[in-house]
Amino acid sequence: MKKILALLLTLIFLTAAASSCFAEASNRKKIVVLATGGTIAGVGEAGKTAGYKPGTLTAEQLLYAVPELEQVADIEAIQVCNVNSDDITAEIWLTLANTINEMAKAPDVAGFVITHGTDTMEETAYFLNLTVRTDKPVVLTGSMRPATSISADGPMNLYEAVCVAASDEAVGHGVLIVFSDRIYAARTMTKTSTYSVMAISAGEMGAIGVVRDGTVFLYETPSKRHTTEAEFDVTDLSTLPKVSILYFSVDADPELLRFAAEHADGLVIAGAGAGEFSEKWIEIIRELSIPVVISSRIDDGVITKDNLLCDNTVAANNLSPQKAAILLRLALTGDTSQEYLENLFLQY
Ligand code: ASP
Repeated sequence: MKKILALLLTLIFLTAAASSCFAEASNRKKIVVLATGGTIAGVGEAGKTAGYKPGTLTAEQLLYAVPELEQVADIEAIQVCNVNSDDITAEIWLTLANTINEMAKAPDVAGFVITHGTDTMEETAYFLNLTVRTDKPVVLTGSMRPATSISADGPMNLYEAVCVAASDEAVGHGVLIVFSDRIYAARTMTKTSTYSVMAISAGEMGAIGVVRDGTVFLYETPSKRHTTEAEFDVTDLSTLPKVSILYFSVDADPELLRFAAEHADGLVIAGAGAGEFSEKWIEIIRELSIPVVISSRIDDGVITKDNLLCDNTVAANNLSPQKAAILLRLALTGDTSQEYLENLFLQY
């Protein structure tokens, strides 16, 4: 008898612990799902994981595959675009930021989930981290396997992303990414595998939380300026300044620098080691009159002012080249002075 009672109590406890993101109909929060495409909306040959077409299923179809979400939140779905994330543009970023900024004003909207391809998820996440003006959770998710593969990872990732967007704990943490049961901050999250379902990581900085059966555990909060504390106003922008990234390697053609500088408003260099490059590159970079930010092709590490080989350049701190390019693009909508840029790269 005692054993049966203990078993019953254990079952009741387990059910309660596993249902923490379930809400009574009257308490369900409103979450807006903004769908942009990617592998999570991909369709291919039944069972296979490669050779599919990303950005095929609609927002409604993605939600239909996760009926459990009805117990978590009241969802409004918006199809922003339906593309491979390599076709995301500044215009799509501005639509996302301005839509979120507008909808976040409604008191009944509690948070946002963006479904997105993993290739450029870190770029969209960081752009929104700098441009959305709300404390309400904004969560990106996607998948590595298309919806038609064996054991597709999209439905679970979407479920967990909505749980995080609806949780009180996620408020005020900046833009988050939920992937394979982990929660990442936009500034440090990066894609680290071309094929694995554990393709999203944050290098040495690590995840800032986990999701388990819908329960959200956040352990860290990002300290760099973001969302409500960021200074970039994109309300009236229809596009962004152009920044090109140049990747240094042995014998890399220095003429590419001149060409890129003629066609862009700013450059980011993915240098070797702590942002270094050859004498030939140094010579040309010193002559450039547009802003040049120095990042590294190495994933882990920081570049400081002391590492710089050319006085007219700005250190990217520990931002990857692709994230440094986003901060530079936003910066160039305003002040372009070297002092302003140096400050910015220390603060964001
Ligand atoms: N190429 C795809 C995309 O980024 C890859 C993915 O979603 O995992 O849209």
